[in-house]
Amino acid sequence: MVKVTFPHMGHMWLCVKAMLEYLGVAVVIPPPSSKRTLALGARYGPEFACLPLKLNLGNFIEASALGADTILMAGGCGPCRFGYYAQVEHAILRDLGYRYELVVLEPPERHVGQLLSRIKTITGNNSWKRVYRGIKLGYQKIRAVDELEREAHRLRPREIVPGSTDRAFQEALKEIERAADLEELAAARGRAGETMRSVRIEERDVLRIGIVGEIFTLLEPFANLDIERRLGRMGVEVDRSIYLSEWVNDHMLFGLIKGLRSRRDACQAARPYLKHFVGGHGQETVGSAVLYARAGYDGVIHLLPFTCMPEIVAQSILPVVSAEMDIPVLSLTVDEQTGEAGLMTRLEAFVDLLERKRARKNVEGRICFG
Ligand code: SF4
Repeated sequence: MVKVTFPHMGHMWLCVKAMLEYLGVAVVIPPPSSKRTLALGARYGPEFACLPLKLNLGNFIEASALGADTILMAGGCGPCRFGYYAQVEHAILRDLGYRYELVVLEPPERHVGQLLSRIKTITGNNSWKRVYRGIKLGYQKIRAVDELEREAHRLRPREIVPGSTDRAFQEALKEIERAADLEELAAARGRAGETMRSVRIEERDVLRIGIVGEIFTLLEPFANLDIERRLGRMGVEVDRSIYLSEWVNDHMLFGLIKGLRSRRDACQAARPYLKHFVGGHGQETVGSAVLYARAGYDGVIHLLPFTCMPEIVAQSILPVVSAEMDIPVLSLTVDEQTGEAGLMTRLEAFVDLLERKRARKNVEGRICFG
């Protein structure tokens, strides 16, 4: 029996694991990404490759030690290197002596027949009806995890007992993870919600920051040095421009699920500054910054891996958005050299700037009205 592994990207593992195990596929989850993972990827990956490739490589090397023999990866197309990352990573692993099979799931917009046949490669004799239920279970888990993350973003800056949101969030995640089918998941969502509601908070007006940028760096806490939690502890409520359920809906489900944010809205908002696709999420980054400014956010943080082409394009446009829409933007580039102390210094300075800006606005408001 094949043992399937896949790279870490935030809590994606929880959903893919549920989907594959529901279909009777053996899964090997790589250990959570760590300094060791990155050191392995940086040692064997090309120096100028972006951070996701290096972390993926490290994940696969670590998963191999746990018995994984098949890699499941998403593919891509367009002017970004991600489209051939699976093949490059596979070739590097082969040169290092790892004997992995590779299954790449290309986006369905262009390769729907191929996608279905690759799904069959992994899911074997399961009926299409059962495959559908497995995918539904995985997707509903993503929705549940995204809801919990959003709630954690709201609670963290308002919690009375420091760390209580993180503890509740971890407990709630375990509830979601344990659910083996859709019926169990419905009950687990209820219990997870109750756990989050048990966090005691003090209602207060807090700073709000929108985080935009490259999807992997946004979703993987190890890659972004846990920026959401750090900001939350500094008393800032964050929102992220991409949640996994939205990405899957946009790119794998043709936007069929209604009521979710869509990349189309971000691309539309980007039009005065960037009219066309530049690969990855470059256009969405610009558009999301515009949307956060319109929604009255205090600031925007732009996350990008070093050498990320689409986000370099966005980075060069964001100063114009910032000036025209009067919203401060901080760009943070991450790679294997990024240190915690440097990041904290920049975050503290940015939050300080936003607090002063808000205080000045409040004073000006009081002078005008009274
Ligand atoms: S979007 Fe950027 S970081 Fe992601 S694969 Fe493409 S170039 Fe690399």
